[in-house]
Amino acid sequence: MKKNQAKEIYTLADLQGWRDVDPPIRLGVLGDPVAHSLSPRMQNAALKHCKIDMQYLRFRILPNELADALKLIRQLRFVGINLTIPHKIDAVEIVDDLDEDAKRIAALNVIKIDDGKLRGFNTDGRGFSRAIREEFSVDLRDLRVMILGAGGAARAIALQCAKENCERLVIANGTFEKGEKLADKLRDFFSGPKVLGPVPRLQAIRWEENAFRFQIANVDLVVNATPVGLNRADPSPIPARLLAPHLMIYDTVYAEKHTSFVSAALEAGARGANGLSMLLHQGALAFEIWFEREAPLEVMRKALL
Ligand code: NAP
Repeated sequence: MKKNQAKEIYTLADLQGWRDVDPPIRLGVLGDPVAHSLSPRMQNAALKHCKIDMQYLRFRILPNELADALKLIRQLRFVGINLTIPHKIDAVEIVDDLDEDAKRIAALNVIKIDDGKLRGFNTDGRGFSRAIREEFSVDLRDLRVMILGAGGAARAIALQCAKENCERLVIANGTFEKGEKLADKLRDFFSGPKVLGPVPRLQAIRWEENAFRFQIANVDLVVNATPVGLNRADPSPIPARLLAPHLMIYDTVYAEKHTSFVSAALEAGARGANGLSMLLHQGALAFEIWFEREAPLEVMRKALL
């Protein structure tokens, strides 16, 4: 007998009255918005390639639904899930334990359901590092980096930059105190002897044009880790007129091939890349956590083209 077809997007109500499909849904991404997510395309290609008989779907889950959704996902014996905006931070209080990175920055993007427990991991940082190497042929340790945002993705990226001993790290966030708190958490990493002249190695700045103008002269890589760009009509998070040709711009948003930020970078004569490469690498690392086997990276990459 043919079972029902998988839906494009599932909700909490679907989890509550669960009707499975064939192959069974055992993985997914929880977020809001989530319709733009390309994770299903990439993960389903990997599952098929590895002959794992299950599917990965999108779940639109609102912030106040997260705890209930995770409880059901545990009961329904999912293998694992990804968390995206806005759940990476709130999930910390709900899972049973966290890996070292997720604990340090209080943000996670991967859950593995293991022996009935929700185990939290963070693969965004390592995924970001691999993406930067691939896109720009440089290592974070050689870069002065400015991150826009201090939410779940920004925290993982900032920790990775710190762990790889980047030359400088600047955190710009709308809510300044959040950026400052993140910088404080990472201060231990920046006490070393790299000497850069008058600018501090680690700094939180206000979301202001003058502050951006000054910092752009003193950084190499600017990373957008805010949701600005998820909507087609969004402007560049930093005005195009402030960008300069020496910069590398990495937009974690991948909704458009050329987000406004990437377009602004290219217009300014800078190099720019969107977040597809980070999506690929964080996803491959997640697959490896769920299945304890190597991810078929090239199959996943091809699925995103
Ligand atoms: P989050 O935890 O909700 O954090 C959002 C951050 O963006 C906060 O720092 C917030 O500042 C800031 N922000 C929100 N709206 C803004 C605006 N209009 N202008 C300036 N700043 C704004 O979200 P997240 O999970 O970190 O996700 C952030 C983005 O990263 C999303 O677009 C997501 O798609 C992307 N991402 C991509 C990948 C990938 O693999 N490519 C991986 C992870 C995340 P306040 O603190 O002031 O509110």
